[in-house]
Amino acid sequence: MGMDFKRRLPIPQEIKQEMPMGLVSIARKKDFDRQVADIMAGRDPRKLIVIGPCSADREDAVVDYCTRLAALQEEVADKLVLIPRLYTNKPRTLGIGYMGMLHQPNPTGEPNLLAGIRAIRHMDLRVIEETGLFGADEMLYPEYHRFLSDLLSYVAVGARSVEDQEHRLVASGLEVPVGMKNPPSGDDSVMLNAITAAQAPHSFIYRNWDVQSTGNPYAHAIMRGYVGADGRNHQNFSYDHLYDLVQEYAERDLVNPAFIVDCNHSNSNKRFGEQPRIAKDVLHSCSLNPDIARLFRGFMIESYLVDGCQKVGGDVYGQSITDPCLGWEKSVRLVRDIAELV
Ligand code: PEP
Ligand code: MN
Repeated sequence: MGMDFKRRLPIPQEIKQEMPMGLVSIARKKDFDRQVADIMAGRDPRKLIVIGPCSADREDAVVDYCTRLAALQEEVADKLVLIPRLYTNKPRTLGIGYMGMLHQPNPTGEPNLLAGIRAIRHMDLRVIEETGLFGADEMLYPEYHRFLSDLLSYVAVGARSVEDQEHRLVASGLEVPVGMKNPPSGDDSVMLNAITAAQAPHSFIYRNWDVQSTGNPYAHAIMRGYVGADGRNHQNFSYDHLYDLVQEYAERDLVNPAFIVDCNHSNSNKRFGEQPRIAKDVLHSCSLNPDIARLFRGFMIESYLVDGCQKVGGDVYGQSITDPCLGWEKSVRLVRDIAELV
């Protein structure tokens, strides 16, 4: 029993100095982050699409994906802002299996955290410098977040983490919008409590520092479906669910009330091909109810180069090794359809 403290790792500041973002990109990101904040606040009518693989498992395919996404972004720029999912650490329900690039830069290899830190930063920097896009990641481990914090333009707190105090406190100090997913139980109050906590300033210990956060006024809801008492996946993107959310928001004193719908996970029952139907259903609800439309900010979509998923170690380039994703052609169609409908 116990823990072997194998080696001391560099701190985020050291890794950032070793692998910095270019000055032009720093300036571009400032402008981009302002646009995203304007969308989250409703000052900009465009919508966000956080789109990409469930896990960023290999740099070449992810950069390839983002290069294509950048071309699509040009096409829909007057309606949509696309943020690639660059998900480098994965929550595991049973604690086993592929943990993401941070742990396993080689998905079939042994964990190597130092190589993983460099691999995820290398990938995110390539996406920024080569495609011009800025990505999203899940903050699964608040302590590791700052290895990438200067490179990300959107952060999600996952369904399994959203009730955790440390996630909420660290979210209150992020400089970009943070999406709080509903928990697996589907209890919206847990998600709204997380948003309330993240919007407020806090004093706490973070990485052995006494810190003070400002509060994050762009903390918002992500509806991802839930697992019912029957053990099955259920959706929470329907008109009724969204109408309930509008009312739950109205009962709270929160700034920038907003939601995003995650079209995969429990909402699709991981039937990835249902994501276009789900997105269109949500847009239909927006067209029926101005209160829902007022809070709607966009979608999260699991998408990669090839439909579906494969086992870890599979040799299909651009196919997910975690949750099944919508392939590239269908993703293009979906993004174009959303741009038409919003
Ligand atoms: C994900 O976005 O891939 C994910 C694991 O989400 P959730 O926390 O909703 O399960
Ligand atoms: Mn997923």
